[in-house]
Amino acid sequence: MLEQLNKLGVAVNVPKESVDMHNMATFPGENPQPVWRIGTDGSVLFMNKKAEQLSAGLEGSKGIFSHPVWQQTLALVIKSQKNCEAEIDLQGSWFRCMFVAVNKAYVNIYGADVTARIMATLALKQANALLEDRVVRRTCELEESNEKLLAEIEAHKRSEEKLRQLSYQDELTGLGNRRYISDRLDQMISLSSRQTNHFALFFLDLDHFKQINDSLGHDAGDDLLKQVATRLQSAVRTSDLVARLGGDEFAIMLEGIHSEAEVIKIAQGVISTFHHAFYLSGESNHIYCSLGISLFPDHAKTATGLFKCADIALYKAKELRDSYSIYRDSISSELSHLHRLSHDLHTALEKNQLCLLYQPKVDLASQKVVGAEALIRWNHPRYGVVSPLEFIPIAEHHGLMLPIGDWILEQGCRTLQNWAAAGHDRLCMALNLSPIQFRDERLLEKVSAVLEKYQVAPAQLEFEITESQTMENPDKHIQVIQHFLDMGISVAMDDFGTGYSSLSRLKEMPISTLKIDQSFIKNFHRVRSERVFVQVIINMAKMFGLTTVAEGVERQEHVDFLKELGCDIGQGHHFSKPLSETDFLAFLSQQSSCIG
Ligand code: C2E
Ligand code: MG
Ligand code: MG
Repeated sequence: MLEQLNKLGVAVNVPKESVDMHNMATFPGENPQPVWRIGTDGSVLFMNKKAEQLSAGLEGSKGIFSHPVWQQTLALVIKSQKNCEAEIDLQGSWFRCMFVAVNKAYVNIYGADVTARIMATLALKQANALLEDRVVRRTCELEESNEKLLAEIEAHKRSEEKLRQLSYQDELTGLGNRRYISDRLDQMISLSSRQTNHFALFFLDLDHFKQINDSLGHDAGDDLLKQVATRLQSAVRTSDLVARLGGDEFAIMLEGIHSEAEVIKIAQGVISTFHHAFYLSGESNHIYCSLGISLFPDHAKTATGLFKCADIALYKAKELRDSYSIYRDSISSELSHLHRLSHDLHTALEKNQLCLLYQPKVDLASQKVVGAEALIRWNHPRYGVVSPLEFIPIAEHHGLMLPIGDWILEQGCRTLQNWAAAGHDRLCMALNLSPIQFRDERLLEKVSAVLEKYQVAPAQLEFEITESQTMENPDKHIQVIQHFLDMGISVAMDDFGTGYSSLSRLKEMPISTLKIDQSFIKNFHRVRSERVFVQVIINMAKMFGLTTVAEGVERQEHVDFLKELGCDIGQGHHFSKPLSETDFLAFLSQQSSCIG
């Protein structure tokens, strides 16, 4: 029962304030609060004024007496004879009623209006509920927007990652790009400074990539770069990083290196992957690469420094082509020498530092001088005589080859005129033509003008071009050579045997002379296989109706063998080193006594 009352919100303990209320009840008439006395049978024994107002109460009911809380509390108090308290709502007000059992005869009930408190509590509860509701709603909203925000952050992160990947990736090959490998190098360097880790950087580029682009088109060029990317990746370890820096330049970062020998082995592996032909537009092509190597921490301690050293080493490797080179300080000083040369070459012409020497060409059968090859020299004020092998590539690279080439043409023809004036009007002058000159649209026009100017017959002029230069744009070469031929000028293929030595190319080119490279003549008197090789070249040239010239003839044995093999002309130190214009005349005058 007590429990039931508790559930109904009826308090069963009598608080202290009840005693005061009981005292108040001793003056019921003056009491503004209601007071009842109810008999144990439920009959009303007494009510003050206020109680009467409340008790009469509600329409169609017995007012307070029908209130379930009242009834239950009263019954409990009568039965237990223990005082009890309950809060009862009545006619819009709340009363706390104190039920006091008196001598088992009746129960005094003292009411107190607690509406204000109850209302305040209710209002507080409502406000709390409202607040709680708002908090819940706001929390939901916050959670929702939080979720949205998280999704946005996630999407942002994804697009950032995509962007990062893009800015780190070479679009064509899918390899990392220059930025990526530079960042990785920086990371490795910061790690390695603590762990004393060693690693290597390879810097590669393809030999003659431009030729592929020019002859087969850019799509084939792109295809080649993709194939190269795949081959490079398969040539190194999975832990190594391959990147494309741009154009035909690639780089590889090799981690965990223990020795230079290990690096060399990997470099050789990379080079040799290029020894299998590349298939481009259905054709097989032989493309090689050059590779420069720098080592951390031996050569440099920054990414930029490592790139610079690898680039310097690459420059060295390119001299040989299809090879690698490890950075050395000596290469670096060689490069600064090159910088000096390229700087000074710009003023070499105007300072009259260039000159032509003439090396006699001798008819092997008659032993007569039939002409000369003009060979350029640069008298450098600091380095002395600089070889054309050294400065012609610089001139080509720095856009100086055309003015120098024009000067050679003019100087060669002026010399022919001078020699003719000295009574030697049947000599032929061979001039080496750089590929840059060959591409000059005005070449034919310039040649005609110079021949005219110095009154030189076209048959007195011969141009030498190399086999490898004709590879670059064979059709253009055939066209220009044909023009020369039409003018009466012959063209020789120089250094034959060192390049592709392609028979079909030889057949296509309207050349008149084949110059056998001096490297085959050198050991020719001792090595039988070299003789066989020269024999094959001479026979082949004869088949095509070409005149043969052997370069680098240094010994009488060379002359004897060459004559035996049917070679037409010889050129080399055995006859004479390259001579000045006037020394050449002196040589001519004593030739019969000198040539044996
Ligand atoms: P090249 O046209 O094959 O010239 C032959 C080279 O062999 C010359 O070297 C010549 O001095 C050298 N030589 C001749 N006989 C002998 C010999 O018996 N033994 C040895 N060991 N060498 C001999 P040089 O003058 O140093 O020229 C080298 C290359 O530079 C030439 O090779 C040519 O490709 C280029 N060159 C020279 N002069 C010119 C030029 O005026 N214009 C262009 N574009 N290139 C030139
Ligand atoms: Mg030559
Ligand atoms: Mg040559």
